[in-house]
Amino acid sequence: MKLVFTKRQEVILEIVKNEGPITGEQIAERLSLTRATLRPDMAILTMTGFLSARPRVGYFYCGKTPGRLFTEKLIKMQVGDVKSVPVVVNEDCSVYDAVVTMFIADVGTLFVVGNSGFLEGVLSRKDLLKTTMGGYDVHKLPAGVIMTRMPNIIYTEQDESVWSAAKKLLTHEIDAIPVVVVREDQNGRKKLEVLGRLSKTNITRIFVELGEEG
Ligand code: ADP
Repeated sequence: MKLVFTKRQEVILEIVKNEGPITGEQIAERLSLTRATLRPDMAILTMTGFLSARPRVGYFYCGKTPGRLFTEKLIKMQVGDVKSVPVVVNEDCSVYDAVVTMFIADVGTLFVVGNSGFLEGVLSRKDLLKTTMGGYDVHKLPAGVIMTRMPNIIYTEQDESVWSAAKKLLTHEIDAIPVVVVREDQNGRKKLEVLGRLSKTNITRIFVELGEEG
């Protein structure tokens, strides 16, 4: 429910927010009005729960605190609103080409798809580093051999809350998760179509933006 207060009620809210606890007398004085004139306004503001009054102390503000607003915004934010473009390679591509793609696209995680276009795995920086140090022929070794495979891939969907997706990054100690749509192939098997990428950078950006909003 969105409450609409009168201009005067908004001013009273501001005064109490900044100076509370403050007596009715003092508020009236600040507005150059009588207490009787203010009575209906004070009644509305207390009945709606925005102000509370304590005898011999005065009015104080009990609307939403900045912390509460921050949490509400975060819970409502969905993965689909903040996702980035996915960087995808085919499972037949060589480890060498995967490294090149990672550099060119400037990402830390590649998503690997099969020939049907569905998600088959994930390649991280360390997966590639490990392989290049392992003495393999990186021009011949396919990315599909060294990736973390389905069904062990942690993923998210567009309508998941960013907060819950961020918890997956933390819990599984990974840098990025694919944003997918769950589909079925001709044989009724679950398949994941990659739509985007949610990384620690997305989360950091949200953190900074929410901080700037104050
Ligand atoms: P790095 O290896 O660069 O530290 P991560 O922490 O993201 O990057 O990856 C750690 C391991 O987890 C890697 O072996 C990687 O293949 C795997 N991994 C990364 N992302 C996912 C994911 N979304 N689901 C399952 N495994 C993943």
